Amino acid sequence: MYAYHKKMSKKDLRFNSKTIHGGQHPDKAYGAVMPPIYQTSTYAQTTPGGHQGYEYSRSGNPTRTALENALASIENGNYGLAFASGLSAMDAVIKLLEPGDEVISTNDLYGGSYRLFRRVFEKYGIKFHFVGMQDINAVAEKINNKTKLLWLETPTNPMMNVVDLEAASQLAKKHNLLLAVDNTFATPYLQQPLDFGADIVMHSATKYLGGHSDVVVGALVVKDKELAEKLYFIQNASGAVCGPMDSFLTLRGIKTLHVRMQRHCENGEAIANYLAKHPKIEKVYWPGFKSHPNHEVARKQMKGFGGMISFIPKGSSFEDAVKIVEKLQVFTLAESLGGVESLAGHPASMTHASIPKEEREKSGVVDGLIRLSVGIEDVDDLIADLEQAIG
Ligand SMILES: *Cc1c(COP(=O)(O)O)cnc(C)c1O
Repeated sequence: MYAYHKKMSKKDLRFNSKTIHGGQHPDKAYGAVMPPIYQTSTYAQTTPGGHQGYEYSRSGNPTRTALENALASIENGNYGLAFASGLSAMDAVIKLLEPGDEVISTNDLYGGSYRLFRRVFEKYGIKFHFVGMQDINAVAEKINNKTKLLWLETPTNPMMNVVDLEAASQLAKKHNLLLAVDNTFATPYLQQPLDFGADIVMHSATKYLGGHSDVVVGALVVKDKELAEKLYFIQNASGAVCGPMDSFLTLRGIKTLHVRMQRHCENGEAIANYLAKHPKIEKVYWPGFKSHPNHEVARKQMKGFGGMISFIPKGSSFEDAVKIVEKLQVFTLAESLGGVESLAGHPASMTHASIPKEEREKSGVVDGLIRLSVGIEDVDDLIADLEQAIG
């Protein structure tokens, strides 16, 4: 955890410049424009404690610092922390809590997040409640004197529900709760939760921030120094840090985030509209539709609607959905999302298989649901591919 260097912070830059320059400066040794991959575990000391700011790469590494500064910049925070994965970043947040504490979260949470909460942390005495957080009153009803944290995703995965960040933040402040937002789907290009009053932004940088399906990386960004110090203590004490090579690749990905997101949004819109008109499609979930139940909230807090779309073919059987995803040729059938290439997934048997069927279906993740991560290929090729697969 390094404070996003004030002199180099370039805080006044607009977002599309921050992705490239935010928190960055040429390397001290030879002026390298991109930070070198400091592939080292340790650093020479002249006398015990006599070092240049780095002593061991779990505690800090200059390539990771460059990434952490970029993360802080693009999310309008003061401190960034880079982890070995999105889930290890979440793990660090939950470790702020004590046995007996309670957390309220979205009911159509990313499957791995749900598994971390229920199967890892519940046995340490932390209790999790899952509600449809798009209804902020439902959240308020679950708050009691043990509640410490609201954990939300917006848009949610894979149902594309949108949670009102401003309302959630007001509720959190009123009850003195921490508000953490998983911003993986939207990215800071579309929404910056700290600006709405969130305390912690979390990313699976594996997805859009990295953007090229070549790393597994996680991130946290906060404004508050004391909170940053607590999280840094956990990051260093637990040790799930982002390595130098992955830091470099993620930083390189961030430099084109705005250009990629623009195309993800354009292609996403075209495909959402194509699916919505298709006679063999029952339902399409995408927050850009006027008919989306949280469309107004999405318009208020997001600059666009992204390239994540879920849909259900007519009949909505497990077999129909599987047949379609198997036929796709430009879309790759795979877990994950947010890369330049288009991916298709079947949540019931893939990303959300770790959530019991009954729980899953309550939040709409039915057997027929297909999730698309629309990439940045030529949209006509993507539509032609869907056309031949849906038939
Ligand atoms: C992938 C993902 C995660 C988990 O991140 P990893 O990098 O795979 O550990 C968490 N939240 C969301 C929304 C995700 O898509």
